[in-house]
Amino acid sequence: MEYSSNNFLRSIIADDLAEGRATEVVTRFPPEPNGYLHVGHAKSICLNFGLAEHFGGRCNLRFDDTNPEKESPEYVASIQDDVSWLGFQWSGEVRYASNYFQQFYDWAVHLVEQGNAYVCDLNAEQAREYRGTLTEAGRNSPFRDRSIEENLSLLAGMKAGDFDEGSKVLRAKIDMSSPNMNLRDPILYRIRKAEHHQTGNDWCIYPTYDFAHGQEDAIEGVTHSICTLEFEDHRPLYDWLIEHLPVPSRPRQYEFGRLNLNYTVTSKRKLKQLVDDGVVEGWDDPRMPTISGMRRRGFTPRSIRKFCDMIGVSRSDGVVDVAMLEHAIRDDLNDNAPRGMCVLRPLKVVLTDYPEDQVERLVAPAHPSREDLGERELPFTRELYIDADDFRESANKKFKRLVLGKRVRLRNAYVIEADSVETDADGNVVTVYAHTLANTIGNDPEDGVKPKGVIQWVSAVTGKQATVRLYDRLFTHEAPDKGDNDFMSLVNPASLEVIEGAWIEPGLADAQPEQGFQFEREGYFVADRYEHQSDAPVFNRTIGLRDTWNNG
Ligand code: ATP
Ligand code: MG
Repeated sequence: MEYSSNNFLRSIIADDLAEGRATEVVTRFPPEPNGYLHVGHAKSICLNFGLAEHFGGRCNLRFDDTNPEKESPEYVASIQDDVSWLGFQWSGEVRYASNYFQQFYDWAVHLVEQGNAYVCDLNAEQAREYRGTLTEAGRNSPFRDRSIEENLSLLAGMKAGDFDEGSKVLRAKIDMSSPNMNLRDPILYRIRKAEHHQTGNDWCIYPTYDFAHGQEDAIEGVTHSICTLEFEDHRPLYDWLIEHLPVPSRPRQYEFGRLNLNYTVTSKRKLKQLVDDGVVEGWDDPRMPTISGMRRRGFTPRSIRKFCDMIGVSRSDGVVDVAMLEHAIRDDLNDNAPRGMCVLRPLKVVLTDYPEDQVERLVAPAHPSREDLGERELPFTRELYIDADDFRESANKKFKRLVLGKRVRLRNAYVIEADSVETDADGNVVTVYAHTLANTIGNDPEDGVKPKGVIQWVSAVTGKQATVRLYDRLFTHEAPDKGDNDFMSLVNPASLEVIEGAWIEPGLADAQPEQGFQFEREGYFVADRYEHQSDAPVFNRTIGLRDTWNNG
């Protein structure tokens, strides 16, 4: 199965292969394990794995784990889960930048020996001053002309832990007046006396992203190193390092536009804040745009891959309408999810003509067009629940549901007519008394008076009670983190409504965790991955029925 449709990167790679610049295609997905993956990462995953697959190549999963303070084994594990769940298999073992720390260090020594790197003692503030601005050249650090011997000995001292954090860095010696700020003697190594989740206390200096990334690619034989546009200005540095180091291969960097979605934030830092401040229940809260959140919400891997395919890949940044993502899951579930009936706000109906102990085994197709999904049993009884919103004592003609003295069809069952109600002390209807019309399963009433509408129902005897969580978009604002907007104050206060006493048709209680359904007339729901049990069912609303994506 192919995951990524045609895009400009495919054309570039096809040309590289045709003209012999590459003989195989090796890509990588290189997350930093400092949070859970989000929908933006899904785009990068589909792209990298999709390209490798298309060209019969390989794609590595590599953790860019060069910032120990922000990383954790929990993130490492969740990222592997997410990539596998999306349906991709990385080539060989999972890789870690930290596996190459010794090699990076040796290469740092090489740069020093060649006169291409030096140890600098400027503090952060001084370094900023010396760096200049976009319109003004920088100035050489007073430490730039240290001898090779002195630099070698200072670098060894940094590695040995002789110096305090922040007191020294290793910098490449490139050009302080370059118009590209990334080439103004960029930092290659920092002192960080932090324990690392993979290498423990072996190291107290850690390479920067720029010093690590291209060299990781070269070590792994990556041919096409694909990253988002903000790294375009880093490409000259990427190339400079490959040029000045005895690396085993020559990867090349290509950039594409990152995914931004309206009504959503896609930044691990901001998502972490939502988790840390308790705005959501965790990284995999079904309202989160994380892959694990979407999974728990009821998205399927297929729908996410389809979405990534629909948005395409381009060389510019844009904002995608979240309604398109919602369309992708709705479309998938419409085609593939079995149907079921659920009553969210139960109102009791007693069918006065129906025998008290009778249980009639009605059956209905699991899906209107998918015979392969089989049938479901709908035991019918004298006492039922319908949705309170589906009944009125009196109503005008626009209300096509149950009204006193009028008829409605119970989905997959009889036509009934409402006769009277029982109310509580406050006048609220608590029970509707009705009767069935003979021979109306699959037929119109014999007297020719057809019901105007169809409503869902659940047997009060054989149905099961369930907890149903209704999720909505997490943000009320279209661009929650744009400009001066404070995304934390734009959280939708109604993003979660929990209904404890819903009723579901009996078979739904036996759903497998993560199984998705269409609850007729209500939307698409999934049995919660962690909490659903047949004796205590829990369903999450994935998405409503109404498609708001304008696809022309
Ligand atoms: P964040 O800003 O959320 O922390 P990141 O870019 O720092 O994201 P990484 O773990 O470094 O996260 O990203 C791994 C890969 O995923 C990178 O190649 C990165 O370019 C890509 N990626 C991250 N966010 C997006 C996005 N919104 N759209 C497309 N690709 C993305
Ligand atoms: Mg990053």
